[in-house]
Amino acid sequence: MGRLICLSNRIPTGANPSGGLVVALGDVLSETGGIWIGTSGEIAEKPDTCLREIEGGPFKRFCFDLTEEEQENYYAGYSNSVLWPLFHGRTDLMEIHQDYLNTYKQVNRRIAKLIAPMIQPDDRIWVHDFHLLPLAYELRVLGIQNPIGFFLHTPFPGPISMQALPNGREVCQWLSNYDLVGLQAERDVRACLASMVEIGEGSDLGNGFIHLAPRQCRIAAFPIGIDTAEFTELAAREIEKLPSGILKPDRSLMIGVDRLDYSKGVPHRFRAFGEFLDRHEEWHRHVSLLQISPPTREGVQAYDDIREETEHLSGRINGQFADIQWAPIRFINRPVPREVLAGLYRASQVALVTPLMDGMNLVAKEFVAAQNSDDPGVLILSQFAGAAEQMTDALLVNPHDTEQMATSMLTALMMSRGERRERHRALLDGLTRQDVHWWSNAFLTALG
Ligand code: ADP
Repeated sequence: MGRLICLSNRIPTGANPSGGLVVALGDVLSETGGIWIGTSGEIAEKPDTCLREIEGGPFKRFCFDLTEEEQENYYAGYSNSVLWPLFHGRTDLMEIHQDYLNTYKQVNRRIAKLIAPMIQPDDRIWVHDFHLLPLAYELRVLGIQNPIGFFLHTPFPGPISMQALPNGREVCQWLSNYDLVGLQAERDVRACLASMVEIGEGSDLGNGFIHLAPRQCRIAAFPIGIDTAEFTELAAREIEKLPSGILKPDRSLMIGVDRLDYSKGVPHRFRAFGEFLDRHEEWHRHVSLLQISPPTREGVQAYDDIREETEHLSGRINGQFADIQWAPIRFINRPVPREVLAGLYRASQVALVTPLMDGMNLVAKEFVAAQNSDDPGVLILSQFAGAAEQMTDALLVNPHDTEQMATSMLTALMMSRGERRERHRALLDGLTRQDVHWWSNAFLTALG
């Protein structure tokens, strides 16, 4: 079998790189003598003209630095202030600047030139996420004919949203240079096929195949999973280590864990919790919401705004309902180690995973995997998370509907143990069948 060459924006660092993608791809990379390439996270004065090898680790890794301008225009600019809001249904937050697009293309061209000399005829190339959409196009320009697959970790927009992007047609053309475009959910496949036809002016050949001259590509859903068995074991071990005092015998714990991103719907969740408390005085002092939300992409205006809004809302709800023994919301603005999160998921009676739009949402999967199957907690899941297509045994909600969310909170807190066990068994079966190993196998088999 030929080598796998994997590209993502950030390279997994450290002597023992970790994270979902490393678990998914680590074995194939080490078995095929494969390579992972990505940015180092460091800033250089001038663009790199060659790749640097990262020593150690179970597979070969090469990285390069971005310049200050590239970080600003390619990463914070086109990737995070144009594509991210567009792909999450927030065209109103897009910041269209020609400089952003120019640098985005330049960086992708530079990466293509850096990696092209190391590609051998039987290598397969797997490109990850929205930072690298034009990479296959740039590699084809350099004469690379190898199979190239792309996986988008976010949702994909339909033609109406794509019209808001001045270079929408070009994005479709970039995609057509991949042999396989993997998306998280069937809804994204439908949106992508429609955009490729209406915006890209391609022809739908059926079965997910699109012809966009001069190329043909296949678009299909590969919902990403987690390392389910490992996470269950971790949570069972870690719950024992939680500091005493976190759990109170007469108080249920609801948990929310999300980067502080406007796509995650944290303000909507807080408002619904406020509505729940307003309606159900009998639950005062008997339930609290632990919301763990480290800030991300600081300095981008939309992220500063969401931080202010959530701080304001949690303060208001606590001010309205708290008493000397109880604060309804604990809002933590920093990352928490993965193993502590696993223990907290297992200790919680309810998880609130209510994004307004999300590619998949791994927190939903981690929460289910972390439960004690004898006495499991209940997952409240937004219909707009990609995970909702697979996790139909969760309590599905519309995060815009505050009253429905408040009702679902009561349903979750009051659910019988029998029903909780039944729903959990069905959810866990799905996560076990379609875990992260299944996902990478399915994608690479389809890439052929
Ligand atoms: P996204 O990729 O958009 O951030 P996902 O839910 O798909 O959303 O994945 C988030 C990942 O980051 C999960 O593995 C989750 O455990 C982790 N994570 C989220 N919030 C925190 C936090 N406060 N501290 C540590 N890890 C977190």
